[in-house]
Amino acid sequence: MENKEQIMEQAEEAVLHTYNRYPVVLDHGEGVYLYDTEGKKYLDFAAGIAVQALGYHYPGYDEALKAQIDKLMHTSNLYYNEPAAEAAEKLVKASGMSKVFFTNSGTEAIEGALKAARKYAYAKGRKDTYEIIAMNHSFHGRSMGALSVTGNEHYQEPFRPLVGGIRFADYNDLESVKAQFSEHTCAVILETVQGEGGIYPASEEFLKGVKALCEEHDALLILDEIQCGMGRTGHFFAWQEYGVKPNIMTCAKALGCGVPVGAFVLDEKTAAASLAPGDHGTTYGGNPFVCAAVSKVLDIFEQDQIVEHVQKVGAYLEEKLDVLVRKYDFIAERRGRGLIQGLEIQGRPVNEIVLKSLEEGLLVITAGSNVLRLVPPLVITEAHVDEMAEKLERAFAQLSAEQ
Ligand SMILES: *Cc1c(COP(=O)(O)O)cnc(C)c1O
Repeated sequence: MENKEQIMEQAEEAVLHTYNRYPVVLDHGEGVYLYDTEGKKYLDFAAGIAVQALGYHYPGYDEALKAQIDKLMHTSNLYYNEPAAEAAEKLVKASGMSKVFFTNSGTEAIEGALKAARKYAYAKGRKDTYEIIAMNHSFHGRSMGALSVTGNEHYQEPFRPLVGGIRFADYNDLESVKAQFSEHTCAVILETVQGEGGIYPASEEFLKGVKALCEEHDALLILDEIQCGMGRTGHFFAWQEYGVKPNIMTCAKALGCGVPVGAFVLDEKTAAASLAPGDHGTTYGGNPFVCAAVSKVLDIFEQDQIVEHVQKVGAYLEEKLDVLVRKYDFIAERRGRGLIQGLEIQGRPVNEIVLKSLEEGLLVITAGSNVLRLVPPLVITEAHVDEMAEKLERAFAQLSAEQ
């Protein structure tokens, strides 16, 4: 087998350098642990960026995928396939929404959601109702449409001109959303919990207020649940905690627990008067292989009560992190819900903490410029939370020893 340095060099030689990667070559996973090519073990509190909700090799998951490989990998959306029909039905049931369109990624789910919103207004004959209100510090993906609603100057700047008709407001500031609303507004898009921007949950007042504004103007509410959905907050979808149902919801990341799949899901009113045959399509999206994964994931969530488990272990994680917040001056605060948590770090480079954690055998990631992000597999136990806290404290100790 190639050694670590060789693999890193080979990658840097041939793979376009769009990531400053951590110096680790991951090889295999088991449960909530990952192992690198040198056999070093890591407790995984990153989960492939909130993807591996069930960890690695969850009972029944691999078998379901292998069985589908033996049957049929791909057909085309020109024909029906059973896994897609089943997966869509289960997603409709879990969300209480109406119709699903499967995509290959999160950013494509956003593209579809934006198109569905514009088509909804267009279909009603309101042809100059096309503006979309998005939030500052949001993240919705890297393709042109998704980038256009991502409120991050650094990500947007080199790629202008972007999609037109987008206005930005401040998250959790209802007045600023109101100020952008007009008869031209067709939709508001926001993350129920801002992820990449630094782990900011929406306030109840804000979310309810935005929903009311949308209803008043017959604009659509698009909630991006790509990171915070699929049980992560202790609710199947984060918006369920607020009782604010979106007109369009986007999913991806944990939806397939490791296979590339996303979805946008429409409520009844939007599904009835939006995208129609010829308006949208995809070659791979919703193919039998990825949908067999989605279908199995949704079965496991129900049978093994994954969401209920997150409520319990999430509460324990919050307690444990609050102890750290009180103990270390450089942790300004904890933000999050359930198993999407952020620690805001002051006066120390958060990337150093990530690197020291890596040395201690703990995978954590960052969000924004100064937030340590914890998005572990949803199947972690309290013992894993304790182990994480010990490793993190050892990483902190190394930092202060050097300073
Ligand atoms: C990751 C993410 C996306 C983009 O998903 P990709 O699969 O990387 O395209 C969009 N929105 C949110 C909230 C995300 O966390």
